[in-house]
Amino acid sequence: MGKPTGFLEYERKNNKAVEPLERIKNFNEFHTPMSDKDRKEQASRCMNCGVPFCQSGMMINGMASGCPLNNLVPEWNDLLYHGCMKEALQMLRQTNNFPEFTSRVCPALCEAACTCGLNDSPVTCKANENAIVEYGYANGLMEARKPKVRTGKKVAIIGSGPSGLAAADQLNRRGHDVTVFERNDHIGGLLMYGIPNMKLEKWVIDRKQKVMEEEGVKFVVNADVGKTVKAADIVKDYDSVILACGASNPRDIKATGREADGIYFAVDFLTRSTKHVLTGKKDGWVDTKGKNVVVIGGGDTGNDCVGTAVRQGAKSVVQIEMMPKLPDERAANNPWPEWPRVCKTDYGQEEAIAVFGKDPRIYQATVKEFIADKNGKLKKVKLVKLEPKKDAKTGRLNMVEIPGSEFEIPADYVLIAAGFLGTQDYVAKAFGVKLNARTNVETAEGSYKTSVDKVFTAGDMHRGQSLVVWGINEGRHVAREVDEFLMGYTNLP
Ligand SMILES: Cc1cc2nc3c(=O)[nH]c(=O)nc-3n(C[C@H](O)[C@H](O)[C@H](O)COP(=O)(O)OP(=O)(O)OC[C@H]3O[C@@H](n4cnc5c(N)ncnc54)[C@H](O)[C@@H]3O)c2cc1C
Ligand code: SF4
Ligand code: SF4
Repeated sequence: MGKPTGFLEYERKNNKAVEPLERIKNFNEFHTPMSDKDRKEQASRCMNCGVPFCQSGMMINGMASGCPLNNLVPEWNDLLYHGCMKEALQMLRQTNNFPEFTSRVCPALCEAACTCGLNDSPVTCKANENAIVEYGYANGLMEARKPKVRTGKKVAIIGSGPSGLAAADQLNRRGHDVTVFERNDHIGGLLMYGIPNMKLEKWVIDRKQKVMEEEGVKFVVNADVGKTVKAADIVKDYDSVILACGASNPRDIKATGREADGIYFAVDFLTRSTKHVLTGKKDGWVDTKGKNVVVIGGGDTGNDCVGTAVRQGAKSVVQIEMMPKLPDERAANNPWPEWPRVCKTDYGQEEAIAVFGKDPRIYQATVKEFIADKNGKLKKVKLVKLEPKKDAKTGRLNMVEIPGSEFEIPADYVLIAAGFLGTQDYVAKAFGVKLNARTNVETAEGSYKTSVDKVFTAGDMHRGQSLVVWGINEGRHVAREVDEFLMGYTNLP
């Protein structure tokens, strides 16, 4: 523990965020790092707890508490405080293949479980992680580390999101020959096309790709396995295959008028926006400038749509949420160190408030009808208010319509961010792997092996739509199982 009195002496300080009205002028990341002195002070707030909940990654009440990668948070906080940056980086890389991604996009489960947060504010673990990894890049400590020995075994990984990349990184380090197939024109999965540029600038992915390529990982982009590349050829040519294709089947909204022109799934909209930001090309771009935008879904993906539409200069942005507003403080049945189920005003909502003077969210409402003009172009959305009602048979609370509560709002574009329904089945069919009732690839509990010999799975395709940090966790675990399958033993962590 660096400084025993650190948590008493220093208050939590966050990296400065550019003001909402300023940052919406572009799609750049908007947090600026603090001075080294301030960063050390922040690290010194860590109490090196006897039981470090920050790194526990356990499930409590069905929700993860603490870092799912079991990152050695107290250890690297201590090293950071003492200025031992090289050692802090080594410690961080023991458990996390991609701190440059998690330290930008992770919801920081570590901080939600931090003991300091029980009576005061949590340690700035996520920003500390970012300071360590960026120090590594700035000081030549992140260069390629090529494996000294090759095993001669070949592994194909389908999908280059965080889970596929983590598996590739681990297996390549072990000495296997790894090829990653990606159907998009760029690697990264939802890190690339999904999470917007202001949360993760895309050069961060390019930077890591270059290092991984130097280390020996091969990437084949524009390769849609099951469509443009035959699954059977891959099974024949490789000793093992990992399916890490994500859970990109969007949940649709089945309401009258759904066929109207102007309705997009969130990830399609966000992908097109990122492509436009990166290339300036307009084909396929959905430009909401001067338009009324309605986002359906009050979650993080919906918030990314709000932030994107605001940056594009939308005339109005409304976000519809079915459920009631969460409380501002933890409820009695949601104590620390559980993940806090509280109302969070995220960056996009903050920006909408700054531009339009009010919170974009409408709670306890859903779409009843999409209303188009005579040319089929969306013009309005009819919403209906909902209220929670207990089901007499099951005792469960359901959200039910309030009769006569319909109302209309203008909508030129609707962006559907209503969640995901498992994996797209063509790739599962192509490899013949079994899916479970939630349309994720089926494996035994705690295993990553599918129903087909030498075919494994990981990430959202295995666990359902989740988080980057879970993707990395699963990529590391599947790599271990594949290594054991190939070699008869494994020494991968
Ligand atoms: C809009 C949005 C924002 C998000 N924001 C955050 C966030 O801020 N923080 C966070 O922690 N999580 C966030 N998430 C969740 C997170 O991005 C995912 O949980 C994570 O990316 C899952 O990783 P994955 O590797 O399993 O799959 P993915 O990232 O989905 O990657 C799967 C890859 O497989 C490729 N693929 C699919 N089928 C084939 C095929 N047949 N052949 C070749 N390639 C194929 C896909 O093109 C894709 O590149 C967000 C999700 C969305 C949708
Ligand atoms: S990966 Fe996420 S949960 Fe883990 S230490 Fe980093 S920010 Fe915290
Ligand atoms: S729980 Fe918080 S204070 Fe305790 S070791 Fe982890 S980061 Fe430090």
